[in-house]
Amino acid sequence: MAKWGCVHGLSLGLALLAGTAATAQNMQDMRDKHDKRDKRDKHDKWIDVTAPLDPATLPVYTGDVPLTMEFKLDMRKGDKVTYSTMETGIHSGTHIDAPMHFIRDGKSIDQIPLTTFMGPVRVIDIAADAPAVTAAELNKHTWKGATRIFFRTGNSHGGGMADVHFNQQFVYIAPDAAQLLADAGVELVGIDYNSAEKFHSDVPRTHQILLGKGIPIVEGLDLRAVTGGDYELLMLPIPIIGHEAAPVRALMRKK
Ligand SMILES: [Zn+2]
Repeated sequence: MAKWGCVHGLSLGLALLAGTAATAQNMQDMRDKHDKRDKRDKHDKWIDVTAPLDPATLPVYTGDVPLTMEFKLDMRKGDKVTYSTMETGIHSGTHIDAPMHFIRDGKSIDQIPLTTFMGPVRVIDIAADAPAVTAAELNKHTWKGATRIFFRTGNSHGGGMADVHFNQQFVYIAPDAAQLLADAGVELVGIDYNSAEKFHSDVPRTHQILLGKGIPIVEGLDLRAVTGGDYELLMLPIPIIGHEAAPVRALMRKK
């Protein structure tokens, strides 16, 4: 490598010594091109933060209808076509809760403008050992002014949304943090496990506070491959008419 580096250095030196402005310009052009490509690669890199719908890996909230898929017809077994069915709770995997989930006359998922789910999003990296995103925890971070906020918590330090064993001790968003977010006019909130609410809490305060303000909640995000910072979000819920939630495919890329 050293030898080639040396030869390369020599030819570079000679080219510069030759002193032709055109050569220097060509080299600058090449450098600019390279920088541009580097930037483009970085910006084109969409990260899929959707939990795969695979019964072997998907954690299902205690008491929810488990995800099952079945091949009714299968070409690998001699059928003329492959055709399968799926049964699942709508809140399995990565999904969006619409206000209707906990607000009696709240909007259903199809009534929320899609622009809510496209645009800048800030990922806040919560300390791995924090049991909940409380107001105090939230205020340790720069979050004010962000329109969409996703929390990457201790949930993402384990298997997260790819570990089939549902963890009842998952990190949730505490009502006092939800209140801060709602009061600040945040438009979308997300978390890296099945629910934003403390497991089996008597009153679903976090949901009531956010959904009560018309703020949809993204649950079941797989944020393991993401770090804190600002991203661009592209996320489109399936248009399930008149219902309280929908599965979603969620993509993010670093801004
Ligand atoms: Zn939900």
